[in-house]
Amino acid sequence: MTQLKQTKLATRAIHGSSMTDQHGSPHIPIYNTTTFGFPSTAALLDVVDGRKPGSLYTRYGLNPSIFALEETLAGLESAEMAWAFCSGMAAETALFLTHGREGIICIGDAYGGTLELLASQLPLLGIKTHLILGSELDRLDALLATGAKLVFFETPTNPTLELLDIRAIAEKAHAHGARVAVDNTFASPVNQRPLELGADFVVHSATKYLGGHSDLTAGALMGSKELLMPVWNWRKNLGSMIAPEAASLLSRSLRTLVVRVKQQNAAAQTVAEAMAKHPQISRVLYPGLPDFPGHALAKAQMDGFGGMMTIEVKGTGDDATRVADKLKLFLLAPSLGGAESLVTQPCTTTHHGLPPEERTRRGISDAMLRLSIGLEDPLDLIADLEQALS
Ligand code: PLP
Repeated sequence: MTQLKQTKLATRAIHGSSMTDQHGSPHIPIYNTTTFGFPSTAALLDVVDGRKPGSLYTRYGLNPSIFALEETLAGLESAEMAWAFCSGMAAETALFLTHGREGIICIGDAYGGTLELLASQLPLLGIKTHLILGSELDRLDALLATGAKLVFFETPTNPTLELLDIRAIAEKAHAHGARVAVDNTFASPVNQRPLELGADFVVHSATKYLGGHSDLTAGALMGSKELLMPVWNWRKNLGSMIAPEAASLLSRSLRTLVVRVKQQNAAAQTVAEAMAKHPQISRVLYPGLPDFPGHALAKAQMDGFGGMMTIEVKGTGDDATRVADKLKLFLLAPSLGGAESLVTQPCTTTHHGLPPEERTRRGISDAMLRLSIGLEDPLDLIADLEQALS
């Protein structure tokens, strides 16, 4: 493992698990079982009491298909440990219930489900949550002074691709004894590794780039052993374990993560540059464009600009709906990070639940379309956008 840690990300994506298969297979098979047998009660107790590592019960995560996945996931985010979950929301819930009970500060825009959990559901359990915009960072010190011990954010954010400075926020939070968790779903570890920049946790909807084919639902949480061990019991008793089949599928997908994401970065840059020149487009929000407000920060903290962008159609929300409906290659679907390009109109999907004034306050207009650039030829994607905009 020490040697593996020194290898590059693409190598760790392929050889990230030190586990071997007795038959010589390069993959750990799907251990499609709920439980594991022992030769004696003494041997069973060794595993139950943690004296020896071993497989025991799949909902606990003690299953070789899950061990292999978690070792690879940890390596990709330069983390000591990773826990896999049945969804991104399950990973976030376990994180918040373990480390957010003294209060959570969420900065900037976040996935709708995350905002709902933080704004409406965790407060029902007595957990204090504070939601501030990226433009309100001057409030962070005062909120940290209230005793909140977990700062959470996405960068780039959804759907405006706002960049938040991981290093600066981590310094501030640590000065108050708080921890920082970054949802790295949009960037993926290929483009950004928050733990290397001072964050304490990374959370993923592995449903997106890590899975990469829109065919599995999973989540991941990475960090130090000290901070992740207390999460284990919550995951176990919330029952939010990934299934062995999904774990195996995700391990398979991680092998191609680096090539997929690099291709998506390059294709997105080509599409963004073409859209920036298009007469029917008023704005393109993409970190790779030199005039994008977050470009300098993206260059400083990211290795690539990602496959996500938001374009703003000249006209009304109805005009943008017509464009979305006319696209042929882009699938009108609320997800991201797959091999196929997807389009969503934030005001009708991810941010539909917010009142129009709140969308405006967050800089989200009805004429915006969010694009997840897939693995098709970017020239075909541009042609599709051009026909829809014509
Ligand atoms: N985080 C981000 C940035 C997301 O986009 C999503 C889902 O869209 C989630 C978390 C939740 O992930 P999941 O759908 O896997 O629960």
